[in-house]
Amino acid sequence: MTIIKDIYALLTGMWITWKHIFRQPVTIQYPEEKRQPYPRYRARIVLTRDPDGGERCVACQLCSAACPVDCISMQSAEGEGGRRYAEWFRINFARCIFCGLCAEACPTLAIQMTPDFEICKRDIMDLLYEKEDLLIDGCGKSPDYNFYRHTGIGVTQPRGNGAGENRPVDVRSLMP
Ligand code: SF4
Ligand code: SF4
Repeated sequence: MTIIKDIYALLTGMWITWKHIFRQPVTIQYPEEKRQPYPRYRARIVLTRDPDGGERCVACQLCSAACPVDCISMQSAEGEGGRRYAEWFRINFARCIFCGLCAEACPTLAIQMTPDFEICKRDIMDLLYEKEDLLIDGCGKSPDYNFYRHTGIGVTQPRGNGAGENRPVDVRSLMP
């Protein structure tokens, strides 16, 4: 019985090998040929702007706190009208593992992952990206979202008038 089992295992292995011999090869001759990754692919990180052109990042440090390899650092500052922004913002891509936790943690949708995976450098110091390397002119994946229209210092109207905000409940009306 053992010899029959061995022959069966041998034939199964050979069948799998033969099956793949006639398949179309999936090798891509990179860099001459390039395959476009899916839009949700997690590669180079960017800082985006809101639809009014303002910087979305409010230097809250949440992305830095969420980063498992400690590769994000920044200095907060306050602009006219009390709006916070990052005076400088740095990501060390030599340490980044492209896990996406920073983008998940960001409350303003400022920090986003892009499918641009071609960021290899010969000098490791060139993988230190400063704010001017990270900040883009567009809104990225969330073109309509403006943090300051939902909350933040820019909201001056009475409570309940913000975008997508419910009217405040009169607690006295809940009394029996
Ligand atoms: S993708 Fe992950 S490792 Fe890279 S900066 Fe964001 S949290 Fe850190
Ligand atoms: S990118 Fe987002 S999470 Fe990071 S400091 Fe700016 S606002 Fe906060």
